[in-house]
Amino acid sequence: MLDRGAFLMSIDTELAWGGVHDGSFRQRENMFRETRKAIEGLLGLLERYEIQATWAVVGHLFHRECAPENTVRHPEIVRPEYPWFHGDWFKDDPCSDVDASPYWYGPDIIDSIVACRTPQEIGSHGYSHTIIGDVGCSREAFDSELKACVALANAWGLELKSFVYPRNSIGHLDVLERNGFTNFRGNVARWYQGRPRPLRMVGRALESALPVPVVAEGPRKVSGLWDLPASNFYMHRDGWGRRIPIASRTAQADFGLRKAARERSTYHLWFHPFNIASDTKGLLGGLETIFRKVQSMREQGVLENPTMGGLADQLNKLTEAQELAV
Ligand SMILES: [Zn+2]
Ligand SMILES: [Zn+2]
Repeated sequence: MLDRGAFLMSIDTELAWGGVHDGSFRQRENMFRETRKAIEGLLGLLERYEIQATWAVVGHLFHRECAPENTVRHPEIVRPEYPWFHGDWFKDDPCSDVDASPYWYGPDIIDSIVACRTPQEIGSHGYSHTIIGDVGCSREAFDSELKACVALANAWGLELKSFVYPRNSIGHLDVLERNGFTNFRGNVARWYQGRPRPLRMVGRALESALPVPVVAEGPRKVSGLWDLPASNFYMHRDGWGRRIPIASRTAQADFGLRKAARERSTYHLWFHPFNIASDTKGLLGGLETIFRKVQSMREQGVLENPTMGGLADQLNKLTEAQELAV
């Protein structure tokens, strides 16, 4: 058990890479166009309310530009072999630069996160958003992705400790640990998982609309890493997400934060910056309400707001102290 409740926030920063597996990046251009503005607004709120977040950034976004080597794009990356994916995983990589293809590169985004006056954590979301828990992703493929991410981050003077699995598809935990990571964002079982698609959609909609967070599960140690399970997805306002009022999102967070404080556990909120871009003003307004609540609970001494990496360090120290005491 923690000394007090913890509010964690992780932000999956991937731009177009998040839609490589199914080509869906092509339909999200209108949101990508607004994403940098949404990030700027979010960073402003994080500064104002002194909120720390873990930004799980796709490794390729660290590049300012890239070019093929002897016609092969990023030859150091071992490709996954998915029966459902045709052609090279990097076939949509424009091999250009951030000015010409701003949805595939993001060094400016990393600069602005690092410059935030409230310290933020940069974590990893893979190098190219491969689906790691799928049998088509070998240990070698994951290892090559992680090594590329670690090298890029080190060149920026950053140490990667926290990992968010693309599409929350968890696998090869030992490979993650061997590459110096201390924690990852885990999943918790949902009643609608594995059910037919319509039921899954109803389940997700209910979960987003009702002011009841399904989860406030605490951290657990798995394969030498801390699993910091997600509690809530901060729902976008695209498609059916538009029908869910902002107040549902903030009521859910309120419930989750109070539960975390009461049980001295974690409440872990996550989203993508492009989700915010589906209604920048409304969704940032909702986050501001949540941050105000976090600030007031922090002042009361019932809640803290570490990064994922910070919480993992804290938990490791706690465990060591307990082991010494035995
Ligand atoms: Zn590239
Ligand atoms: Zn992702």
